[in-house]
Amino acid sequence: MMARRRAGNEELAELVQGEQTDAVRTLEDRIAVRALGDLDARFEVLARRSITAWVTAFGSVQAEASDPGALRRILAAIRAAIRRLLGPLGPRATKALDDALAEAVTLAARQHAAFVDDATGRRNRPVGVRPSRGLRRRAAAIADAVADRRDRALAMLRPSRVRRWSAVQTGIGTARSAIPAVRTHITTTVGEAVNEATQAAIDHTGAKKVWIAERDACTACLAYAGLVVNADADFPGGLNWDPNQRGKTDPIPGPPRHPNCRCRTVAWDEAWAAEGVISFPDSLRREARRSIARGWSLPTESGAARIRAARELLRTGAGLPKSVEEFATLAVRAGRFADRTFPTGP
Ligand SMILES: [Zn+2]
Repeated sequence: MMARRRAGNEELAELVQGEQTDAVRTLEDRIAVRALGDLDARFEVLARRSITAWVTAFGSVQAEASDPGALRRILAAIRAAIRRLLGPLGPRATKALDDALAEAVTLAARQHAAFVDDATGRRNRPVGVRPSRGLRRRAAAIADAVADRRDRALAMLRPSRVRRWSAVQTGIGTARSAIPAVRTHITTTVGEAVNEATQAAIDHTGAKKVWIAERDACTACLAYAGLVVNADADFPGGLNWDPNQRGKTDPIPGPPRHPNCRCRTVAWDEAWAAEGVISFPDSLRREARRSIARGWSLPTESGAARIRAARELLRTGAGLPKSVEEFATLAVRAGRFADRTFPTGP
């Protein structure tokens, strides 16, 4: 075995949250390109042509559909276009995702071995893994997500349900929402693949497992950051820094905790801890508390939830440097975080 230097807590966290998560994101993007092609641009064209047809037939965007024959023709053309655009998407997305599952589990097994290399200072071989049948079934469900949007859009675009352009716009928008739905399904399934392979690798090491959240993860995932459980055990259900969202979920074996969750687990053995510094799981918990105190989060998360979480953190004792706690106190008093972006870069 080749001797290596053991990495420090920050380097270990950065390896998983930075480099390894980025590599997974790159894989997701590649799958999305294969699945979606130029679909977004084609929806753009459809929207433009439809508005032109409406204005030509009825005079303006605000005008009601006064001529039933013209309305029927316009809607029939739009419904046909939606069938053409979304019909092949289900099978194409299923194939793109299914083809990539083997790569996703192999990537995750390699990444986990690299983490254990760094945590122990010894070389480790990646475990051999193949995508499970459950995983492949969940990948195939991407076609249902597309079919659901298509069917709802087609129902909205029946002549009996359309009087104004806004209704057409809503119908086309519903069809087009298949694009973000496909992206989310890809992210979630790749996340499941990563965690399935990681679980196999953790079982192989015979160690426990620890939860690693992103630095701008939601108030739920940050409540799991740094938690350690036995390899075959579940993480407790219902944890959340926001008291209003507590207790509503079941125990889970690992991430993803929700759609678009990029949390990870890794093996952890107390014997790997360096002397004289806080343990890796403790450092993850502290960083999660810092993220709550600073309000670091995605714009999609509720600002009110972040403030409730920060208040809860201060109430229970943040254990952070005074300046960070003061920052959180001011934000809670103001009722908002002015800037929620996690600072990246050099
Ligand atoms: Zn998460």
